[in-house]
This record gives sequence, C-alpha cells and structure tokens, in this order.
Amino acid sequence: VEFASPADLEAQCYDVQAFLAEHLPRDVIERVHETGTVHDWAFHRALATTPWFAGPWPEEAGGAGLGPLEMASVVETMARAGAPLDGWFVTMNVASTLRTKATAALRAEVLPSVLAGEAIICLGLTEPDAGSDVAAIKTRAVADGDEWVIDGQKMFTTLAHEARWVFLLTRTDPATEQHRGLTVFLVPMESDGVDIQPVHTLGGERTNITFYSGVRVSDRWRVGDVDGGWGVLMTALAYERGGEFGGNALFIGTLARVLELAAEAIGADATAPGAVDPLVAARLGRIAADLDVARLLSTRSAWVAGQRRSPIVEAAMAKLHATESLQRGAADLLDLLGPEGLLRHGDPAAPAHGWIEHAHRHAAVTTIYGGTSEVMRTIVATHGLGLPRPTTGS
Ligand SMILES: Cc1cc2nc3c(=O)[nH]c(=O)nc-3n(C[C@H](O)[C@H](O)[C@H](O)COP(=O)(O)OP(=O)(O)OC[C@H]3O[C@@H](n4cnc5c(N)ncnc54)[C@H](O)[C@@H]3O)c2cc1C
Repeated sequence: VEFASPADLEAQCYDVQAFLAEHLPRDVIERVHETGTVHDWAFHRALATTPWFAGPWPEEAGGAGLGPLEMASVVETMARAGAPLDGWFVTMNVASTLRTKATAALRAEVLPSVLAGEAIICLGLTEPDAGSDVAAIKTRAVADGDEWVIDGQKMFTTLAHEARWVFLLTRTDPATEQHRGLTVFLVPMESDGVDIQPVHTLGGERTNITFYSGVRVSDRWRVGDVDGGWGVLMTALAYERGGEFGGNALFIGTLARVLELAAEAIGADATAPGAVDPLVAARLGRIAADLDVARLLSTRSAWVAGQRRSPIVEAAMAKLHATESLQRGAADLLDLLGPEGLLRHGDPAAPAHGWIEHAHRHAAVTTIYGGTSEVMRTIVATHGLGLPRPTTGS
C-alpha cells in the first residue's frame, strides 16, 4: 500500500488553491452563511469551466477521467476553504445516474445545461412519513395519455429554490408495497402546481418542503422504466455513497478546517512552551487521528468503487466515521474554546471567527442526510457481518 501522496495530487492541490483564490471571495462565503443556501451561481459557473466539474466522467462525455483519489483531494481542499459545493455535488450525482438510466433524448435535453453550470438538480426522495424507509413514499404519479399527473409532498428538498429540475421518486402502482411500483421523474421546477416552502435547520442551512398538486409532466421526463424506480434510486445512492465525486471529502474538509482553526486559536493563547494543557493536546490529537482514519476509510471506499464493485459496506463505514468524527470533533473543539466558543460567526469576539460553533451545529445534520448513522451501522452489520436484518419494534 502506498501512503505517500502522488506528486500530481500535490500539484493539483496548488491548482485548486489558485482557483479558490480567484473565485471564492469572502463575500461568497458570507452570503452562503447568511442565506443558508449552500450554492453560489458565480462560483458554480466558474467551477464548470474546470476539469474537476465532471471530473470522474470520461473525456468524450465532457469529463476529465479523474480517479476517486484525485476527486477526494480536490473536494477536501475546496471544503477546507468553505466553498459552497452542495449544488454541484447533488447535481453531478443525479447527472451520473441520468447518464446510465435516462433516454438519449432526456440526456440531450438536460446534460448540456448541467455541464455548462447553468442548471442544478435537487433530490425529491424524503417525505414526512418516509425518510430512512424511503420505499414507504406516497407521492402519486398517475398516467393520463402520454402525460403523468403528480400529487404529493416532499420533505427536505434542499436547493429546490435554485434547481431547474427535481429528481422525484413517485409511486405509480399503489397496489404494490414498498420498493415495487415506484417510478422516478425529472420534474421541471417551473411546472404549474409545484410549490416551495423554506425550512431553516439547526445547522443554519436552508432546505425546503415541496408540494406537488396536479403537476403534469410528459412521459419523456421519466427516468428508467415505469415501476422500475427502485433500481434508478439504488443507482443514484450508489453514486452518492460510492465517492466518485468525493462525497465524504465534504465532511473531512470541514473537520480539517475547524481543527486547523482551533489549533491556531489555542496555540495563539499558549504563552510559553509547555503551556498547552496535556488534556487539550490529547483531544486535538484524537481529532487529528479520527480525521486520518476518515480519509483512509473514504479512500478505501473510493478504491473499491474504482474496481467497478459496489462499495456498500465500505461506503457506509466511511460515511459513518467521517460524519461522526466531524460531530464529535466539533463538539470537543467547542468545549476547548470555553464559553466564548458559543459566540457566532459575525461576532468580532468569536474565536476562530465562529466557524467551530457553526460546524458544531452543522455536524448534527451530516449524520442524518444521505442515510443516518443508525442506517449505516445496520448496513455494516447485515451486509458486512452477515447478520439477519433487524426486526423493528423489539
Ligand atoms: C439538512 C437536511 C437536508 C436534506 N436534504 C435532502 C434532500 O435534498 N432530498 C431528500 O430527499 N432528503 C433530504 N434530507 C432527508 C434525509 O435524507 C432524511 O432526513 C434521512 O433519510 C432520515 O429520514 P427522517 O428524517 O425521516 O428520519 P427517520 O427515518 O424517521 O429516522 C428517525 C430516527 O430513527 C432512526 N431509524 C429509522 N429507521 C431505522 C432503522 N431501520 N433502524 C435503526 N434506526 C432507525 C434514524 O436513524 C433516526 O435516528 C435532508 C435532511 C436534512 C436534515
């Protein structure tokens, strides 16, 4: 096993930093923080001109053929600088799904504007009564000639207010239960009958509830077979969790950023050699070790994906460890800063510019979206250790 970072990764890191110096001015970071919308059109359009935007895709499809290690290093460097990447990340994972599951006509209609950085796609999976158990969704799509009429409600449709389309999981056969009878559509957000209501989270991010009332879409917006939505969804989740676009690097970059900020703040307060409390040093050391383990688990997951195998267990372990390390690490760092650590970004007296306090609130949601920690542990126990599926209610 080669642990040294290849020279071309180091060089790429300089390229990413040069890109950030030009395209990530402070006002972008401030605006994202104020609005909670983790997407910025000017930054996104600039990113679309780089080889990283569709990095893992082959060149003939508009990508650069970059491997998972290269993508993870790009994403970690950007997340470390506080770049708003959610719109890009969700859109490209859906776009990867469209490349394999959508008709040629649908791909031709959607992918050029996605690749130009002119349109993003949001995810409409979760409903008020269907989150971890996403197969319990009730949003209905009923055929009417060559159109479908959609009625229902989705919870946590993040970036719906910026997206051109929603990747919508619907139920087309109500007679069947759970994962049968589901169909995915790419619904234009400007369709009549789509309503968006904002939801502001503990972490300061804005997400949305979306309502669909008699929304009519042509059959050409269908992704995959009628009643074949579960397979399409599994493909999308495999892209999201598999790490092609370096997903976990978002969490890892955030933890690296706050660890660095805390070390600076604590180091600046230490007046003499030996002045840092050994318990403080021990906590910082543990966070640094967690960070490295998170990188290794993510690298392993990405490597398995690169072997054209599905890294179900490896991806679950990597997501679990990266997000729980972020949650535990941010809480520890907040403790180390003392009462002032609770001052928020924007308060001139806030240590580390308030970013540790912000990371502490943000970390909680990372252990929920993309599959909760409990769901990740269950995947490791059943798929990894071969245990039978747990029964509920016991
Ligand atoms: C900030 C944010 C952004 C999001 N963005 C999107 C988005 O863009 N699109 C989208 O579709 N969704 C999005 N989600 C939804 C997210 O994917 C769900 O919140 C998540 O899947 C959990 O579902 P739930 O909230 O309904 O919780 P539940 O599924 O109701 O879970 C509640 C608790 O029970 C536990 N639990 C549930 N089932 C089991 C089980 N079988 N075994 C053990 N424990 C279990 C969970 O781990 C959790 O602790 C977002 C969520 C958040 C918080």
